[in-house]
Amino acid sequence: KPTVAIVGRPNVGKSTIFNRIVGERISIVEDIPGVTRDRIYSSGEWLNQHFNLIDTGGIEISDAPFMTQIREQAEIAIDEADVIIFMTNGREGLTTADEEVAKILYRSKKPVVVAVNKVDNPDMRDTLYDFYALGFGEPIPISGSHGLGLGDLLDLVIANFPNKQEEEYDDDTIKFSLIGRPNVGKSSLVNALLGEERVIVSNIAGTTRDAIDTPYKYDGKEYVIIDTAGMRKKGKVYETTEKYSVLRALRAIERSDVVLVVIDGEEGIIEQDKKIAGYAHEAGRAIVIVVNKWDAVEKDDKTMKEFEQKIRDHFLFLDYAPIVFLSAKTKKRVHTLIPKIDMASENHAMRVVTTVLNDVITDAVAMNPTPTDKGQRLKIYYATQVAIKPPTFVIFVNEPELMHFSYKRFLENRIRDAFGFEGTPIKLIARPRK
Ligand code: GDP
Repeated sequence: KPTVAIVGRPNVGKSTIFNRIVGERISIVEDIPGVTRDRIYSSGEWLNQHFNLIDTGGIEISDAPFMTQIREQAEIAIDEADVIIFMTNGREGLTTADEEVAKILYRSKKPVVVAVNKVDNPDMRDTLYDFYALGFGEPIPISGSHGLGLGDLLDLVIANFPNKQEEEYDDDTIKFSLIGRPNVGKSSLVNALLGEERVIVSNIAGTTRDAIDTPYKYDGKEYVIIDTAGMRKKGKVYETTEKYSVLRALRAIERSDVVLVVIDGEEGIIEQDKKIAGYAHEAGRAIVIVVNKWDAVEKDDKTMKEFEQKIRDHFLFLDYAPIVFLSAKTKKRVHTLIPKIDMASENHAMRVVTTVLNDVITDAVAMNPTPTDKGQRLKIYYATQVAIKPPTFVIFVNEPELMHFSYKRFLENRIRDAFGFEGTPIKLIARPRK
């Protein structure tokens, strides 16, 4: 998927446009306490073209002066995006800050589309001519508050997408990434996996230019490691801002089949781990939890069970994810990781037989009758799997509102138990029967 970034100085209306483009998206999980996706990264669609959208204005580089902040945001847009929407304000006209941003964008040679916001009546069209001076071609008048001009803007944006949406790897290549806060040992683990075989480090061209993708072979099977740690850019101020690292993690997650959520066994679980794991879950990726630095933990025969329980308590929403304890440093148990990745990835792509699925649901309903609300009972007619990665099921019912969260959860667990979806989230959607 191509990526579009919105840049521009504060208060030109970037987040209004961001929200207009992505619309109100419903997450696949109703409720993960403490995990709300920051509204800086989402996906949009126009004329059947799907893309990622970043609001760089939401990435604050703490303490930086105004101008530095804007420059850093422009740099992020250049690093991350295939097409840049450069937002300006038609009411205020062209400003020095706009020209400053233009200079940076100009050097990058990335396609830039200039949007002139707050042009909500025809008399204002004259002001547009000033914006030709930015040197990015025709400026597009829009009105974020009225939703005008968005179609024209997006037409131009998608016209600038890179030609080929190349599928970078073979279908049976498993792509996995390692996410987790700094210093949990992600790079060490990549090195432990690769061992002496670290020969090919390629920078594969695609929509994410800075990702380091490392092809990896194990037991005759092909993998690609998407190395977020390897993507760090030395000396860039914004690398250390939390939202930016989250953004990077999201990009890696987006491209992965399996996400390894790496936790530092020595330090235990902290809030940030939960947030990062929540992103992977919400994105519907297969997940394996890795507890690293297990060598440094003083243990007895109960330690592992206790740690496992702690993880289960903290990550209630990841009850399906297997947990691997290992040490990247001593390489102990590192060999147990790949089989778990294989399993999670297989389940992530599993298709079930429709008749069996419906038998499972019939049995489940017999065991635990459907809920009623205001005298009306939920009726389930039929279920079918509509997608893989993650496995997604549509359940046709009389009234979707009657499918309460707890009942949905119950059905989900029955489906899980029946088919063995270890390592992957599954998604249930209730639809009214037509
Ligand atoms: P990253 O930021 O997540 O990529 O973490 P690094 O791979 O750079 O590791 C951070 C620090 O943890 C380094 O000092 C590593 O030597 C150390 N480290 C990594 N893995 C292990 C491990 O399994 N055991 C111990 N004791 N230390 C580790």
